[in-house]
Amino acid sequence: MTTTPQLLSADDQLRLDQFLDQARAEAHRYLGYPAAKDLDYQLLQACLGLPLNNIGDPFAVGTWKVDSHSFEREVLAFFAGLLRAPADAWWGYVTNGGTEGNLYGLYLARELYPNGIVYFSQDTHYSVSKNVHFLNMRHIMIRSQGNGEIDYEDLNETLKIHRDVPPIIFANIGTTMTEAKDDISRIQTMMKQLAIPNYYIHSDAALAGAIAPFLDPRPPFDFADGADSISISGHKFLGSPIPCGIVLARKAHVDRIARSIAYIGNLDTTVTGSRNGLTPLILWQKIKSLGIDGLRQRVEQSLALTAHAEQRLRSAGIAVWRNPGAITLVFPSPSQALIERWQLASSQGISHMILVPGIDMDQVDQFIDELVAETAKENC
Ligand SMILES: *Cc1c(COP(=O)(O)O)cnc(C)c1O
Repeated sequence: MTTTPQLLSADDQLRLDQFLDQARAEAHRYLGYPAAKDLDYQLLQACLGLPLNNIGDPFAVGTWKVDSHSFEREVLAFFAGLLRAPADAWWGYVTNGGTEGNLYGLYLARELYPNGIVYFSQDTHYSVSKNVHFLNMRHIMIRSQGNGEIDYEDLNETLKIHRDVPPIIFANIGTTMTEAKDDISRIQTMMKQLAIPNYYIHSDAALAGAIAPFLDPRPPFDFADGADSISISGHKFLGSPIPCGIVLARKAHVDRIARSIAYIGNLDTTVTGSRNGLTPLILWQKIKSLGIDGLRQRVEQSLALTAHAEQRLRSAGIAVWRNPGAITLVFPSPSQALIERWQLASSQGISHMILVPGIDMDQVDQFIDELVAETAKENC
């Protein structure tokens, strides 16, 4: 293969260097977004000289061969095990992120129950109302409890009114603001009590999907617990320099939508045509280098750092709280200056910090020192 050098002028190179310096500083400092920072993908340098494209179904063989489908399949099998998918009865692919996985889960649900109603809570990620709009699905928003979890009473009452239509439950396994987890066991008990035989459950586990399997008690959210499909973001707890995600579903749901495409000699089972060939390699490197034990350790380290920060904030008299098993700490919003400096996601008077891998204790302590100093100034 020949390569064409792509040289930049001195000005353009300077602009790029300044951008990198600033982006590195901001990436080092942020505390309010769920993207893990412990990235090391030198290995992938070599892949950037290839037009990798994972077009088509990762489990089928197509005419195009410059793909990383075999790595993608290993990544999917790993997560199928972690999320207790039924042996030989699951399917999935590496997506562009949590939103695409959620769109996919809702799409499968709609093909199964074309007149179904989607139920999701007020705390559901902002992309979901867009997704149900894309898919033209009937939907009802359910109240949330104070901690961000769905209000089961409200859900029960609403389901009762629409018992003739199959419910499609869009469950949050870690809400965006407070990392609250809806209990899908409890929701299924509700279905039994209401004698609703046909329903679909999608778990939106964007952040917590890589954490929840290691929690004790393990929250009910995966296939063994009754989910029909699950979406996880790859660039959140796992960490990836390129946004990506994993979607897994019960295979029977996917078989309903598969169409064979002559042009690529493959099945059209994914949302987009061309798909990222690098991200499966990134995820593969992550799971291979860490293994199950390494992933568990990352969870334990994040929980330990979260407990440390919570303890420090509480001793400083700050009204901090978190959901069980969460690495997200919720507290009253500080000044706009601190919100900007530490990139704290904020909404309706509350802010959060998310103690993802790659954040170190010094940084956390520095932020808390600044927050405490500011609070002390306000109080005098
Ligand atoms: C981040 C997030 C999403 C969207 O994931 P992307 O990877 O950003 O597309 C969906 N749901 C929840 C709960 C999230 O936190």
